[in-house]
Amino acid sequence: MLVNFIFWKKDDFEKFVSQNLDTNSDIFYDLKSKQIATDTELEPVVEMLATKFRTKKSILNDFTSLHMVVPTLRCNSNCIYCQVSKKDLDDKGFDMSRDTAKKIVKTIFESPSPVVKIEFQGGEPLTYFEMVQYIIEEAEWVNLFKKKRLEFVMCSNISLITFEQLKYLKKHKCYISTSLDGPRDLHKGTSKN
Ligand code: SF4
Repeated sequence: MLVNFIFWKKDDFEKFVSQNLDTNSDIFYDLKSKQIATDTELEPVVEMLATKFRTKKSILNDFTSLHMVVPTLRCNSNCIYCQVSKKDLDDKGFDMSRDTAKKIVKTIFESPSPVVKIEFQGGEPLTYFEMVQYIIEEAEWVNLFKKKRLEFVMCSNISLITFEQLKYLKKHKCYISTSLDGPRDLHKGTSKN
């Protein structure tokens, strides 16, 4: 939405409404510069407004490129600041199914953006690495036809990572996003969730 406004006196407003506002006054110039009023042809004003609107909303042409995917809510850490309702490693019912993952990939590629970035969040994606692999390979397969710039990022605490997993991530050009936020106690936490 384009929002243009001016503050003016009641007196000026009444003159404007009754079409008696001086078109050479400062206030009329202000109205004119914001395409709120005109004393010339309407068409160029509408065209100017349309151009402004198109420019402002041009971001929608490509829609979104970044897609967060959560393969599991399970995590081996227990950070006291965790904001994702993480579950313990042996909790059941918090892993994504293959069927859901396939549908997610299909939906992601419906974005008109020429760039698709899939970011794995958690929980800890390493606790369900098979699903990370499944999604990466499913996306690569779909992208054989879509031919977008496909990028992967895995947000991980990396405490469980193996050499084999590192090799896999490197091969599939999946970046790792990680952080060490403080002493051990901060990450271990005290509560179950
Ligand atoms: S690493 Fe910490 S913040 Fe991240 S999901 Fe696990 S408990 Fe939560």
